[in-house]
Amino acid sequence: MNLEKKLLTGIGLAAVMWVLTGCVTEPSALTGEKKSYGYTWQQELEIGKSSDRELIREMGLYPDDALSKYVTEVGERVLAQSNLREPDTPEIYRDLEFTFRVMDSPVVNAFALPGGFVYVTRGLLAHLNNEAQLAVVLGHEITHVAARHASQQALKQQWGQIGLVAGAVIGQGITGNENFADQFLGLGVSVFQMLTLKYGRDAERESDIYGVEYSAKAGYAVGESAEFFNSLGRISEKSGQRLPTWQSSHPDPGERESRINRLAMEMKQKYGDLKVGEAEYLNRIDGLVLGENPRQGVALRGKFYHPDLDFQFDVPEGWRVKNEAGRVTLVDSLGRGIVIFSSGEGNTPEDAARSFVASSQVQPIRSESSTLGGNPGYVIESVVSTSNGPVAMRNEFFTYKNSVFSFLSYASSTEIDAYRPAFEQISGSFEPIQESSIRNLQPARLKVVTADREGAFESYLSDLPYGLDKADMAIINQIAVEENVRRGQKLKLVSQ
Ligand SMILES: [Zn+2]
Repeated sequence: MNLEKKLLTGIGLAAVMWVLTGCVTEPSALTGEKKSYGYTWQQELEIGKSSDRELIREMGLYPDDALSKYVTEVGERVLAQSNLREPDTPEIYRDLEFTFRVMDSPVVNAFALPGGFVYVTRGLLAHLNNEAQLAVVLGHEITHVAARHASQQALKQQWGQIGLVAGAVIGQGITGNENFADQFLGLGVSVFQMLTLKYGRDAERESDIYGVEYSAKAGYAVGESAEFFNSLGRISEKSGQRLPTWQSSHPDPGERESRINRLAMEMKQKYGDLKVGEAEYLNRIDGLVLGENPRQGVALRGKFYHPDLDFQFDVPEGWRVKNEAGRVTLVDSLGRGIVIFSSGEGNTPEDAARSFVASSQVQPIRSESSTLGGNPGYVIESVVSTSNGPVAMRNEFFTYKNSVFSFLSYASSTEIDAYRPAFEQISGSFEPIQESSIRNLQPARLKVVTADREGAFESYLSDLPYGLDKADMAIINQIAVEENVRRGQKLKLVSQ
């Protein structure tokens, strides 16, 4: 988790519901023809705004203003050449302002939300080699927004409603018992489901075609981007686990690579030789954090450590840990005992408890002052009825280094006694980090170097930090491990 994400309460149960209006017919920003959408343009703007806030809380922004400004500049340059900015485009589209963001995630991904929000992760930026590739990725995402693909998809799938719920995702992908958490929280479709939404092949093809064209018009050598699509294929081959969502709707990256190549040839004939922007791009991403950032939390040898916030606590044997920007979730092997560590809302533990009760509407059966690890605290216990039966919940708020945090633990009422010792072990072991080597942990960072000799790429890779191997580095550089590099060639290596 990240210090900046202080707004997050333990679990926010307040949901924003977007009721599907039915079928809206409005002119397309790409073609001007009337098309059917699930949401009005106005609704899309609202969905974008609130989902954006949610996403920042969940994922965290990458703290590098210069980099984010650079991504915005490239995005704006491409946007200026898009159908959204043509004089005969309906005014509602022409007025749309875009927000480009760099998210603090090692996953290789780019995505868009309705209403003009485009995101790239730092993991994606590490994999791009030049500005032209970035332009094509941004152009692709701009097209999803302009073509209103999410809104079209909503209509197709007849979503009854989309609930964008703070804390909605706690159970997903980690508990192994997703319904339990889902039902406990009363979820609709979360912002994450929206992000991992598959627009469909036609929509993806449309985004590739327009994205490449906009980028070429903006002066970029779009042929460069085919290499990147090739590396996306290599990432998913290397590890199915890390299949980027961005690519998951494209079953055949090879097909896509050749499509982009074909388009690029056309563009070259139409617009001439264009900008690659390698030196500038590499200069901007020099120093970028690679892989997981241990300063934002790391599980090691039975403990969870957070060097930036200087605390640690036990992780009982067999429990899994999921560390996100706004919270740390611990789940036992059966997925039935859950502990969520997060920031509390308010200046004191009691304030935070009150705010939690108000927003979650739980009825406390016990609430009183307490201490946690020698810190002043306030504890509330409640029973929440769910469609899976009653759930016993304990929320311990406490002050640590002038901030309020909380441990929220829950299990079904029939099993709570079995889980209590583990719950107490976790929150009871909370303390400042004891070992200085852990307090001083640093993330691996990308270091751009100029090859000083000709030789195999492999020969430039020595002492890779834990979690990064030669294959990863080769993919990041869009070359093969055994491939020869030229003297003077720019390489993306690692500094630690
Ligand atoms: Zn796409």
